[in-house]
Amino acid sequence: MTLDSKSPSGPIEKQWDSHRFNMKLVNPSNRRKYTVIMVGTGLAGASAAASLGELGYNVLAFSYHESPRRAHSIAAQGGINAPKNYSNDGDSIWRLFYDTVKGGDYRAREANVYRLAQVSGNIIDQCVAQGVPFARDYAGYLDNRSFGGAQVSRTFYARGQTGQQLLLGAYSAVSRQINAGTVKFLPRREMLDLVVVDGQARGIICRDLVTGKIETYAGNAVVLATGGYGNTFYLSTMAKASNATAIWRAHKKGALFGNPCFTQIHPTCIPQSGSYQSKLTLMSESLRNDGRIWVPKKKGETRKPQDIPEEDRDYYLERLYPSFGNLVPRDVASRRAKEMCDKGFGVGSTGLAVYLDFADSIERLGKHVIEERYGNLFDMYHEITAEDPYKSPMRIYPAVHYTMGGLWVDYNLMSTIPGLFVAGEANFSDHGANRLGASALMQGLADGYFILPYTLGDYLASTKFAPVKTDDAAFKETQSGTEDMIKRLMSINGKKTVEEFHRELGKVMWELVGMGRNKTGLQKALQEIPKIREEFWKDVKIVGASNDLNAELERAGRVADFLELGELLALDALHREESCGGHFREEYQTEEGEALRNDKKFAYVAAWEYAGAGKKPILNKEPLEFEYVKPSQRSYK
Ligand SMILES: Cc1cc2nc3c(=O)[nH]c(=O)nc-3n(C[C@H](O)[C@H](O)[C@H](O)COP(=O)(O)OP(=O)(O)OC[C@H]3O[C@@H](n4cnc5c(N)ncnc54)[C@H](O)[C@@H]3O)c2cc1C
Repeated sequence: MTLDSKSPSGPIEKQWDSHRFNMKLVNPSNRRKYTVIMVGTGLAGASAAASLGELGYNVLAFSYHESPRRAHSIAAQGGINAPKNYSNDGDSIWRLFYDTVKGGDYRAREANVYRLAQVSGNIIDQCVAQGVPFARDYAGYLDNRSFGGAQVSRTFYARGQTGQQLLLGAYSAVSRQINAGTVKFLPRREMLDLVVVDGQARGIICRDLVTGKIETYAGNAVVLATGGYGNTFYLSTMAKASNATAIWRAHKKGALFGNPCFTQIHPTCIPQSGSYQSKLTLMSESLRNDGRIWVPKKKGETRKPQDIPEEDRDYYLERLYPSFGNLVPRDVASRRAKEMCDKGFGVGSTGLAVYLDFADSIERLGKHVIEERYGNLFDMYHEITAEDPYKSPMRIYPAVHYTMGGLWVDYNLMSTIPGLFVAGEANFSDHGANRLGASALMQGLADGYFILPYTLGDYLASTKFAPVKTDDAAFKETQSGTEDMIKRLMSINGKKTVEEFHRELGKVMWELVGMGRNKTGLQKALQEIPKIREEFWKDVKIVGASNDLNAELERAGRVADFLELGELLALDALHREESCGGHFREEYQTEEGEALRNDKKFAYVAAWEYAGAGKKPILNKEPLEFEYVKPSQRSYK
């Protein structure tokens, strides 16, 4: 398949403006004649639904949650980037563009990244207008802090709960449209399949999670804003319910999957404390503004951290990366933490942790300042570990946090299925092989507030639509496929719980496809995953009934999809014989242990095509060209 990114031509700073001008418009009085199906109402979906509703389209918005406010986006802690240069420290659209392309290890599409940097300033204005309570300085101006991979302060924040505040803003905007009648919100519905009619995405199949009823919905276009697939690894910082079902089933209907192996491992999470743990907790990257990361210089150190004098501590990030120090990007900080622990310098009972220490900042700024900046994060840490981070350093360790991969989209955010758009974390995104902190909220809201309203309108205005009804053959066929899968799952009646299978998959994924990957391990994973999948389909036990509220059945469908996606993720990691960003192949590293790219062979987006059950997926490539930010060995020294 030839992949056309539809990146506009001309100088990069003019591309989005000229593209917008060239796009077709839908007359305001015609917009209500078009129905847009929005799956997902997290930051990306809620902002898109609100904006399309405001324009006058007829929007059907679906979520498996009971309210948009429950989306995983609510968990976002540290902040959202925009190059407003309020700090007067040299920031600009160009610098954010440059930092993002470099941070992503030169595996992102330049045109998209530039547009993202360009529209990000508008997001802040939009959210302030909605009443989002961003932190302000003493004079009342919006405050900024720094995140990894940048030497400027461009991160806007609302304490350690930025996602929650932004989501309340988007929720208010969407609620206004629900009240105005342009958006209809259908809660507790899980999309289980995509309906494609004559090659166009024209509808979805949903399960009403309260009654178990299978429902069908038709429209002119479908948007998937269904979040990331980090839970393929079982343990992650993502919400337990976050899953890949919508994008995976659309993939099986023909949408190509971009860079599935690009997974972000976040360096500062509360370490796992036991094998029965089902969730990991993030400690925001913003903490690295004031916290210093270190390990004892002596292996097997038994003294309490407070009793270890300065000369016996190794502030390894400050030592290795004097320019960026503790604020190196996530991939770098994660790898170095693992390296320290692998070498035996790790702390805590498992040895799988490093210290994040605030003692210096508390002494310099006072406890009240640290409390103001990060109070809720410190409370969370205290409650989970029973240790007081104001008195002794936090123990942190890397964990799966975000997925840069997702459904492949062109510049218009349209997948390879005409009429199927993908927004937010669900698309393969603008972050290349490594997302910089505070850039996911930026991307999700850019997609929803400022990109889809134009590109989707252009698609509607320039496409001919045959009338479709939900009792057409394509809908019936897709619906019966969904019902058959549910029947099959319910009829297995085996001995093992869904959770057990998910845990087994997660173990393989983390150990063999995790922070460090190598050929032998990946080949082993590719043997193990199909075995777990086969056993799942023979021996899973799902209690309850399908025509009722059934959380176990919901989980079973999601884990069935993770068991397929996990294999594609490992295959993608195996084929990419280079290291870049969050994809670290141990065979490909510099003498100093940094990721070693192979631009000659791998400067492309790997877009995988589903070839049918049991068949090897087909690899398609979108070559990446770098006209403005020339690829070089990333250095944060
Ligand atoms: C702990 C944590 C902290 C973070 N902090 C930051 C931060 O400070 N800054 C930053 O930029 N990023 C941060 N991130 C990343 C960021 O929060 C996410 O990438 C972003 O919020 C994803 O938004 P989204 O709208 O794409 O998806 P989500 O918020 O995950 O929303 C998905 C929506 O889709 C719905 N859905 C999914 N599947 C289906 C289906 N099959 N049928 C129906 N509905 C479905 C869900 O109900 C939900 O409404 C953080 C992530 C984590 C895990």
